[in-house]
Amino acid sequence: MTLKEECGVIGVIVFSERYASFLAYRGLLKLQHRGQESAGIVTFSSEGHHIHKNFGLVSQVFDELSLKNLKGKIAVGHVRYSTSGKKSPQSIQPFVVNLPRYGYMALAHNGHISNANSLRRSLEREGIIFQSDSDTEVILHLTAKSKKQSLQEKLEEVLNQVEGSYSLIVGTHEGVYAIRDPSGFRPLFMGRLQDGGVIFASETSALKDLPIIEIKELNPGGWVFFSKDGNVFNYRSFQDRPSRFCLFEFIYFSRPDSLYDDKTVYYYRKQMGRILAKEAPVSADWVVPVPDSGIPAAIGYSEESGIPLQMLLMRSHYVGRTFIQPRQKERELAVRMKFLFVSDLIKGKKIVLVDDSLVRGTTAKILAEKFREEGAKEVHLRLSSPPLISPCHYGVDIPNTKELISYHYSPEEIARLLGFDSVAFLSMEGLVSILPERGYCGECFGRKIVNKEKKLLIV
Ligand code: SF4
Repeated sequence: MTLKEECGVIGVIVFSERYASFLAYRGLLKLQHRGQESAGIVTFSSEGHHIHKNFGLVSQVFDELSLKNLKGKIAVGHVRYSTSGKKSPQSIQPFVVNLPRYGYMALAHNGHISNANSLRRSLEREGIIFQSDSDTEVILHLTAKSKKQSLQEKLEEVLNQVEGSYSLIVGTHEGVYAIRDPSGFRPLFMGRLQDGGVIFASETSALKDLPIIEIKELNPGGWVFFSKDGNVFNYRSFQDRPSRFCLFEFIYFSRPDSLYDDKTVYYYRKQMGRILAKEAPVSADWVVPVPDSGIPAAIGYSEESGIPLQMLLMRSHYVGRTFIQPRQKERELAVRMKFLFVSDLIKGKKIVLVDDSLVRGTTAKILAEKFREEGAKEVHLRLSSPPLISPCHYGVDIPNTKELISYHYSPEEIARLLGFDSVAFLSMEGLVSILPERGYCGECFGRKIVNKEKKLLIV
């Protein structure tokens, strides 16, 4: 799978600890898979607000000194992969704005504001100057320009104007807001700390190994304000909409140890492999996962089919540029060098290769060629998600339709084009049958949405 994750957000209020920044840092480390381009933390103390952010991994951006300089018991954090906007220092979140008659506000966003361009154009006509081309910046300017009295009213006014997906953390000197969009596209959780404080985070993985006594998922359209005195205020979104949780959180984005409805993502991915084995059986000697994203589904496929699992394809973590021309050849060689093949167990065998999804098919084609070069008798490809045929408008970096191989070709045609003996995908019905009961977005799988009763609807 070559899709990029979107972003991860965190909000912290502590009482017994001296610094909220250290817990925010630990949480961001566990959200690193959601964005590796940049990381940032903003804190609030009696002296004002404190910012530290930069390009790089969380462990590269922060050290002990920078975390100690982030004073205060309130923190907002973010890891970013830019699905919209260029890679510029101004685009690194959290964003900070000074609100007239209120003070500073820090904002961290996971998702995509689909009407950001039109909102931006009308703000620019009013003379507002944007610092970045990030869609998130429109939320900042709209909040700064709102004439409403309280921050809650300002935010309510703003979120009535924006469309798309957002899990937001808003920090101020008064406390932290956690807000999930009315369709609940992106995840957002709240963990209560033993000392009476709170941690809001994109995934439950960020709440592990911390003194947490209770974890709750925010409902779609849910708002929570946690004040610096430890008071909790729950609000409901003004717009009532059916849930459209992103199916790709289960398929690929969320960390395998994250929980949804008390079960790990690893469990759901294994179940996807089991259903796939029932829907698309094949006679073979080995089930081989494409590392790392295909591993849980391959285990499920192996358990259900009884075909032994072998790690005959491994990832080399130390491959850099190959410096051969032209660039396309270099990309191909990079893929070939990225994987290690266990030749003696491949020779003369029938292989079922399992991955989580198929985007352009570039890597899969090279893998098919390599398995044949290594002497495989047959190579079959099984994907633990339905065919991807449409881009995403809610913050996931799926290429446009003309680059998506499943938009143009049937599984049989894909098998011929990529050099497999057969190719099969998990059905949409099979996928949702093993997921918790909630409404899902499946637009990238063919403009289908899934309602609470798990019925597929074409929109
Ligand atoms: S279109 Fe696909 S990737 Fe985007 S939110 Fe919907 S399910 Fe997720």
